[in-house]
Amino acid sequence: MLQTKIDKHDLHQSDAPAPFAAESLLSITNRSDIVMERGNGMYMYDTAGKAYLDFISGWAVNSLGHSPAALQQALIEQSGTLVHSSPAFYNKPLLQYAAELTSAAGLDKVFFASSGAEANESAVKLARKHGEVNLNGAYEIISLSNSFHGRTLAMMSATGKSHWKTLFEPKVPGFKHVPINDIDALFAAISNQTCAIMLELVQGEGGVHQVSEAYLYAVRKACDMYGMLLIIDEVQTGMGRTGKLFAHQHYGITPDVLTLGKGIGAGFPLSAMLTKEQYDLFTPGDQGGTYCGSPLAAAVGLAVLNEIITRDLAGNAEQQGRYLIMRLKELSLTTSLSNVRGLGLLLAFDVPEGSAAPLVNYCMRQGLLLNAPNSSTIRLMPALIVSKQDIDEMLAILKLALYELNLA
Ligand SMILES: *Cc1c(COP(=O)(O)O)cnc(C)c1O
Repeated sequence: MLQTKIDKHDLHQSDAPAPFAAESLLSITNRSDIVMERGNGMYMYDTAGKAYLDFISGWAVNSLGHSPAALQQALIEQSGTLVHSSPAFYNKPLLQYAAELTSAAGLDKVFFASSGAEANESAVKLARKHGEVNLNGAYEIISLSNSFHGRTLAMMSATGKSHWKTLFEPKVPGFKHVPINDIDALFAAISNQTCAIMLELVQGEGGVHQVSEAYLYAVRKACDMYGMLLIIDEVQTGMGRTGKLFAHQHYGITPDVLTLGKGIGAGFPLSAMLTKEQYDLFTPGDQGGTYCGSPLAAAVGLAVLNEIITRDLAGNAEQQGRYLIMRLKELSLTTSLSNVRGLGLLLAFDVPEGSAAPLVNYCMRQGLLLNAPNSSTIRLMPALIVSKQDIDEMLAILKLALYELNLA
């Protein structure tokens, strides 16, 4: 009965584009009319059955591809055992995941939440607590221009997007922005009110721009000199994305606070803030949340972590990323594509100003999903399971699109 209904619905939808009631949704973004129905590995399928090779992965979220078996199994097993128990109790997956994640990250303590913004809020709270307890009430946090840390009010203040500067005034005070890789500007911004420096190592939403080694060493040194916390936001770069389990491992530098999100849940809402033993500073009531450390989320996180480690998906990200960069550089010799950059499977290239959106739209019609973080940049963040064959298929469509749109 139900099946018949679904089939009819499918038939109806396959003829004409999107006769659906999107009017009920609060408008938040310009969306295409496509209704996505299912996913499998590197592909998503819309209600018309059209396949899309996915090089966005829900913004670097579907790290294991679409509907991975490990995630399904964790959800089925844990949902039949214990879904939610409240943060007032420990639960088994929470204890095991906390132990394994802190050990993988080389840190001591972890707080779990559901979104990247919440993990970052937590980091900011911890930094302010550190300022209160250890730095005579220092509360200011320095972050980078062009950075992205989330969409809550405080994270909009931390974020360095220029067009957010005047949104939703008044802003949460206590954030200063400095340009990336400018050591002098950083030191000039530090005062006795500064309690932390917060940054991404590869600015994802900002267009894939990497912090230099010299800069990160200077940041680490400044934090050590003045007792400030180094907060590294690895919500996008963490959990294998850049070719190592964590992006800071490329630099050999340890953060005082590490935030994770997106790929750690492989599609299930999960985020984390990790820190060192000495910054275990919250007192009861300071921090929490209804879903913090839920058994269902922890079981998923544990399954994702184990899957990424046992299948060496960070290694695959490194290897496939290198191949993808090589092939994109080749393509840049004969097309207008330029400035190929990034780490592992967080990559980008530039196209002539104004052509990023038309390119994304053309590729989408051809069954390829790419992201344009701005009007002249294309960003690639496929699942960590991507193969050479997937990359070749992506490049064939991209090449065709560049020729068809006179961008060759
Ligand atoms: C996506 C992202 C966030 C915000 O995560 P949400 O889950 O959307 O709240 C924060 N920091 C970085 C670096 C991100 O890429």
